[in-house]
Amino acid sequence: MKSKILEILEKSEGYVSGEVISKKIGISRAAIWKHIKKLRELGYEIGSKTNEGYKLIKTPDFLTGFELERILFTDIIGKKVLFFEEVDSTNNKAKQIAIRENEGTVVISEMQTSGRGRRGREWHSPKGGIYISFILKPNISPEKAPQLTLVSSLALVETLNSMDKKLDARIKWPNDILIKGKKISGILTELSSDIEKINHIVVGVGVNLNTEKNALPETGISLKNEIGENVSTKLFLRQFLEHFDVVYKEYITNGIDKIIERWKFNSDTLGKKVKIIGINETFEGLAKDIDENGALILKTKEKEVKVYSGDVSLR
Ligand code: ATP
Repeated sequence: MKSKILEILEKSEGYVSGEVISKKIGISRAAIWKHIKKLRELGYEIGSKTNEGYKLIKTPDFLTGFELERILFTDIIGKKVLFFEEVDSTNNKAKQIAIRENEGTVVISEMQTSGRGRRGREWHSPKGGIYISFILKPNISPEKAPQLTLVSSLALVETLNSMDKKLDARIKWPNDILIKGKKISGILTELSSDIEKINHIVVGVGVNLNTEKNALPETGISLKNEIGENVSTKLFLRQFLEHFDVVYKEYITNGIDKIIERWKFNSDTLGKKVKIIGINETFEGLAKDIDENGALILKTKEKEVKVYSGDVSLR
């Protein structure tokens, strides 16, 4: 209802009477008044005049989950958005609620106090960046879960490159997005499943949007540093979540093949000589390809090997 009222107010130049709103959406004028009160509490500045009605003066400067839900054109992603100023980790929050939430629910925070990367590494999460976790429930077998890292990294890299072609953002296998060789984003995919069936997958994406240089490690870069001006968080989130929705729908409808083609097109790793430090072994060779589950196919001196995860450095 609140969204409907806002839509009506947004579309009209002047004041709209309670009666007109009431006729359009079929609720009483008293109910409208209650919703207007709630909207004001949410930060919407709404003027009211006796005999004339209501007028939207200003939407909130700060972001709210409701505002994001309202402006998104998506089918699955962001139908529900939980927005926080600070959490320990958006992935933790998402995992706590994943069982009872619908797929596509998104947890967003402006800061994380214990942001994590892979293998328990720290993800620097100061204010200025944005930290987003997606709750997904695709009907796939558990071994295919890493495909969601491919889907997510592709959605982000395409979003960044559509914002500014000059950025030339690229994907570093398996889970980072680089600009000029520096990390602008890291992705952490976490799976909850039994042997045959996935319960849910939580994909966490940390993006250095307006992060100050001195709050990042040497190897990091922020969009603000690169573009030279502040980036609107609202606009970025809108573009990213809407594109994520498109790529995710393509994936669940048509499978991973086309996604992989586009992933390869945006890859920073393929075709390069790399050194990969795995949990038990270290490999060196030419990064030749990735397989359908996102494993890297590496041509070493002796043979071709498939590497499932590891730290990649260029040789
Ligand atoms: P690597 O880049 O060494 O392969 P990784 O892919 O395993 O690491 P993650 O586990 O995703 O990386 O992220 C953790 C690492 O990323 C940290 O060890 C740190 O070097 C770097 N890092 C942490 N926070 C940020 C940030 N906000 N921006 C850029 N890089 C970061």
